[in-house]
Amino acid sequence: MGKITGFMEVARQDLTSLPPEERVKTYSEFTIPLSLESVSTQGSRCMDCGIPFCQTGCPVNNIIPDWNDLVYKGQWQSALETLHSTNNFPEFTGRICPAPCEAACVLNINSDAVTIKNIEHTIIDHGWEQGWVKPQIAAQKTGKKVAVVGSGPSGLAAAQQLARAGHEVTVFEKNDRIGGLLRYGIPDFKMEKHLIDRRMEQMRAEGVSFKTNVHVGVNLSTDELLKDFDAVLLTGGSEHPRDLPVPGRELDGVHFAMSFLPQQNKRNAGDSVNNNILATGKHVVVIGGGDTGSDCVGTSIRQGAASVTQFELMPRPPEKENKPLVWPNYPMKMRTSSSQEEGCQRDWSVATKAFLGSNGKVEKLLAVRLDWQKNDQGQMVMKEVPGSEFEVKADLVLLAMGYLHPVHEGMLKDLNVGLDNRGNIAANTDNYKTSLDKVFAAGDMRRGQSLVVWAIREGRQAARAIDEYLMGSSTLPR
Ligand SMILES: Cc1cc2nc3c(=O)[nH]c(=O)nc-3n(C[C@H](O)[C@H](O)[C@H](O)COP(=O)(O)OP(=O)(O)OC[C@H]3O[C@@H](n4cnc5c(N)ncnc54)[C@H](O)[C@@H]3O)c2cc1C
Ligand code: SF4
Repeated sequence: MGKITGFMEVARQDLTSLPPEERVKTYSEFTIPLSLESVSTQGSRCMDCGIPFCQTGCPVNNIIPDWNDLVYKGQWQSALETLHSTNNFPEFTGRICPAPCEAACVLNINSDAVTIKNIEHTIIDHGWEQGWVKPQIAAQKTGKKVAVVGSGPSGLAAAQQLARAGHEVTVFEKNDRIGGLLRYGIPDFKMEKHLIDRRMEQMRAEGVSFKTNVHVGVNLSTDELLKDFDAVLLTGGSEHPRDLPVPGRELDGVHFAMSFLPQQNKRNAGDSVNNNILATGKHVVVIGGGDTGSDCVGTSIRQGAASVTQFELMPRPPEKENKPLVWPNYPMKMRTSSSQEEGCQRDWSVATKAFLGSNGKVEKLLAVRLDWQKNDQGQMVMKEVPGSEFEVKADLVLLAMGYLHPVHEGMLKDLNVGLDNRGNIAANTDNYKTSLDKVFAAGDMRRGQSLVVWAIREGRQAARAIDEYLMGSSTLPR
């Protein structure tokens, strides 16, 4: 602990951002970095608690107190090594992680948490600027071949770990670019895509081979995959979206969020897009209040929507959490994302009854208000409020209500791999093994829709499990 009184002397300093009216003019990231000196001072607020709850709150168990201290002392390169020892891609999490670590920070009990996420962001960005991030090429090759299906954060973390253990790793991706939802889904204004390209260069130098436009189970058979590789890791994500089968669902202008968001990623990358779905000049209604819904809001605003409304089925959460009750867990409370800040009408306890339109095109949405009450078992149940139906203009409706499970058709059916009762691949976190010999699974494909940081954790742990399976033991971290 660098400065014993730091937490008493220094106030939390958050990142600032370009004002909404400025940032919506582009699809670029818009946070304004703090100086290294300011971040160093923020590091002094860490109390190096006897039990670092932040570290257990972080899914990759980042060794947060150690790098806070190193940053305070100006030892940025050591801080980077410590950070990389648990997290392959801190430039991703430092930008888009919801930071459960900060909810778990002991200072958060009666004061403001340490700015852990921004310290992480600064360590890695500074590390890249200084040229400290280098390929770590395995000293010896094992001669074993591993296939990773899916190039999201889980597949990439696993591939990097496995290559560093000396295996010959090939990543197969059905899309035309590597990155999974980091590339196609998460908007560029939250995370610019050159960050993925830079990591891919490092990974190529470490021996990872990337094959795009290969859809396993479609243009590459699962038999071939099993024949050609000593182990196979499935990290194909959770891509089956939750639908809203109400009258009018078939109308033109009602789309899944994931038909809309990747198109803008592609335009930003300079690609031309077929069957454009654009919010320009339209009254947009986003159904679903989570990350995906929020990304639809920010993207619609940048495209020049006439209005953006976001409906959430659940009731409006409390403004503040009851800390004695919920700390150190990530609390349910009212949050406003940067996209929502940019100008969107939000409404809670609203269900969609129908989409209305003419000539095959959506024009309005018919909604109803809900009353949520606890039943005898203490569960929240909803009832429609009689007479509360209302209509809103809607030329574009974006469905962002989450994902049910991975796509079963194709690869998973061909493999005939065992599924759990939610339709995800069944594999436990002791060894990430599926029901099939030499086939492993990790990330959203195994745990269901989740977070980038969980995907990285699972990728790292699955890599160790595969290394143990292939070699009998492993020196990769758990
Ligand atoms: C719009 C959106 C915004 C989000 N925002 C955030 C956020 O801000 N912060 C956060 O922490 N999390 C966020 N998430 C969640 C996060 O992106 C995911 O939890 C994470 O990307 C899961 O990683 P993964 O590697 O398991 O799968 P994915 O990232 O989904 O990658 C799976 C990859 O596998 C490929 N694939 C699938 N099947 C095959 C096949 N048969 N053959 C070849 N390739 C295949 C897919 O094309 C895809 O590229 C968001 C999710 C969405 C949809
Ligand atoms: S990865 Fe997320 S939870 Fe972990 S330290 Fe970074 S911001 Fe916190």
